[in-house]
Amino acid sequence: MHERPENPPFLDSLQRPLRDLRISATDRCNLRCTYCMPREVFGREFVFLPHADLLRFEEIERIARQCVALGVCKIRLSGGEPLLRHGIERLVGMLAELRTEDGKPIELAMTSNGILLAKKARALKEAGLARLNISLDALDETIFHRMSGGNVPVAAVLDGIAAAQAAGLAPLKINTVVKRGVNENEILPLIRRFRHTGVIVRFIEFMDVGLTNGWLLDDVVAAHEILARIDAEYPLRPIAARYPGEVAKRWEFTDGGGEIGIIASVTRAFCHGCGRLRLSTDGKLFTCLFAGKGVELRGTLRARASDDELRQRIAAAWLGREDRYSQLRHAMTEAPARKIEMSYIGG
Ligand code: SAM
Ligand code: SF4
Ligand code: SF4
Repeated sequence: MHERPENPPFLDSLQRPLRDLRISATDRCNLRCTYCMPREVFGREFVFLPHADLLRFEEIERIARQCVALGVCKIRLSGGEPLLRHGIERLVGMLAELRTEDGKPIELAMTSNGILLAKKARALKEAGLARLNISLDALDETIFHRMSGGNVPVAAVLDGIAAAQAAGLAPLKINTVVKRGVNENEILPLIRRFRHTGVIVRFIEFMDVGLTNGWLLDDVVAAHEILARIDAEYPLRPIAARYPGEVAKRWEFTDGGGEIGIIASVTRAFCHGCGRLRLSTDGKLFTCLFAGKGVELRGTLRARASDDELRQRIAAAWLGREDRYSQLRHAMTEAPARKIEMSYIGG
């Protein structure tokens, strides 16, 4: 883990420093997870972004470089499914070259559903990818299909995990979204499978992202419940965050079986430490996962703006940032009308 630079802290209106940039490399995906891109909405007739609207790698790198100049020290490639973006290794290679003000390499990470990893893990590692999170919601085939909205076998993801381990992408993290009545009984099987392997499983409360996943508070399995289920069979104790603002609460097995994480995005909002900026596939900058509107950068880039102009636009977006959606969620009666899909903005 890289140390986070102290200087210069570039703060938003709630005094939060800009630290992380998440880039959606594509809005397409080879799964249709019910909580993210449900098939009824993202079906055959759904129109994804045309290629000309996508930011080119050089454009992504230019934006990322300006963000790094403003304090970003960690970049995560996401989507959609980032491995579907043709030549993604080249983008990884370009971003891996970025250096912070004090000359340190940025921490370059990716979140993937793992399906194409068996083919790509080695190339990603060689290109400079440092960390990888792989999403896997169940080991049971039927439950996995219910969560992921298709019939891709679990084995495809497990092969991807094995390939990532073989390529030296460690420590590997597994992201598991928990949805009441669907996969909560998979929590313990996942724990058993990955204890003592060095792989860190992180359970995520089902969130009300976008407008299409039919979110109900009743579907959320709260962090304390997830924890109790695990602790009853494999006793846990809390461990310290690796850095301020880490979203997952960390726990370790008291018997030395490794660690787990729980991301309580619904029941324990972490907006106060949120330093994340998001870049959509078509070049809009969002200051919150739940933001309704982004700052258009593609037009700015294509109008031949200078690096200074680009940086000023990014800086203005961060300086004016007031987002704290999760903190306000409980006070809200209904979901706001213009939220953005996670596949488009980068999970
Ligand atoms: N396709 C890649 C994947 O699934 O890993 C990357 C993109 S995905 C949008 C990023 C992460 O967001 C995944 O771990 C996914 O489980 C999580 N996610 C998507 N929708 C969510 C929701 N409604 N609540 C909580 N997590 C969600
Ligand atoms: Fe695709 Fe990831 Fe969303 Fe699932 S969570 S539909 S794999 S983008
Ligand atoms: Fe950050 Fe917005 Fe999530 Fe709060 S709701 S943690 S501000 S992305």
